Amino acid sequence: MSHLMNTYARLPVAFSHGEGSWLTDTEGKVYLDALSGIAVSTLGHNHPQLVAAITAQAGRLLHSSNLYRIPQQEQLADKLAALAGMDEVFFCNSGCEANEAAIKLARIYGHQHGVDKPATIVMEKAFHGRTLATLSATGSRKAQAGFEPLVSGFLRVPYNDLGAIRAIARYNKNIVAVMLEIVQGEGGINTAEVDFQRGLRALCDDRGWLLICDEVQCGMGRTGSWFAFQHAGIRPDVATLAKGLGSGVPIGACLTAGQAKGLFKPGNHGSTFGGNQLATTAALTTIGIIEQDGLIDRAVVVGRLIREGLAQGLAGNRSIVDIRGQGLMIGIELDRPCGELVTRGLEVGLLINVTADKVVRLLPPLTFSTDEASELVSRLTKLILDFLAAA
Ligand SMILES: *Cc1c(COP(=O)(O)O)cnc(C)c1O
Repeated sequence: MSHLMNTYARLPVAFSHGEGSWLTDTEGKVYLDALSGIAVSTLGHNHPQLVAAITAQAGRLLHSSNLYRIPQQEQLADKLAALAGMDEVFFCNSGCEANEAAIKLARIYGHQHGVDKPATIVMEKAFHGRTLATLSATGSRKAQAGFEPLVSGFLRVPYNDLGAIRAIARYNKNIVAVMLEIVQGEGGINTAEVDFQRGLRALCDDRGWLLICDEVQCGMGRTGSWFAFQHAGIRPDVATLAKGLGSGVPIGACLTAGQAKGLFKPGNHGSTFGGNQLATTAALTTIGIIEQDGLIDRAVVVGRLIREGLAQGLAGNRSIVDIRGQGLMIGIELDRPCGELVTRGLEVGLLINVTADKVVRLLPPLTFSTDEASELVSRLTKLILDFLAAA
């Protein structure tokens, strides 16, 4: 522990194994997992089909590098392109890397269109990662503090405010892209309004800007469609994925379509590990199981059960500001900071998260059952009501 760099405020628990939506710690205590390792463990823990697929792949070949063809990577690209209605895919290992690729694409696109200093519009409360460029795109001064000078070329606007974007466009001729999360995760489960999404798509078309959707957290079925942008019937030019894509095996992806297609040429971008045999097998298997078991439809149903159950259990309490989200990406906003709920949750065997200070965030595995949803609702309702009563 003493030799670990001090980058996380870790909770005093370590898990030894998991089964479905349940995790067991090293003392033998069992927890209901309503967080999935931050939207990562799409299939829950120890999914037999996933374990078999990655075990078999590990016994054949883990990695060859992108100096050679990787058939699983080609298959996964075909699959993702079909599911997203997009054209091309670049594979990397994480969300920030997928966003780095997207940001580089926007710049190369700008230069190709004669813009010397290409700029990307980003949102307040956005989270895009911790590398320098993605940190610069992130809308949190707290996360950025101490790391100046930040990467230039980002302009920030309030979320859901098309007027603000139009206003910037009137005087700034360097804009080449707009980047946003259709459902902001770290920012507190805030959803882009359908009219805003469609208006933004039209504005990007009109201006020749790339629309970049960061689906690192809200993608891969979590909100009840493969990708959150599909609810409004829009298609971005660039979409980024990671978290849930490999069900715990690290993998990220940057997808392109339309204007954003074909921008990178050999030598423009790359990744040593990106899309290796193990990671792409995990992602292909994850997608196969989501399809086979109808997990996206299930996310809609189970998500609604959780939100309705919480709304009922917490009804009439004036400290509950909002219960929101889509599918299995759910936020409960309180009228006060509530980080303490996370440790209180541990005590009662429940894994949840608090983000944006006042928002309880739930990201259960897509395999969550209706019984587990009821169990979550009853444990969490009591937890929140006890917390509010104690204050
Ligand atoms: C988690 C997250 C990222 C960063 O992903 P890493 O894998 O931690 O680099 C980027 N964007 C969104 C929306 C995220 O939720």
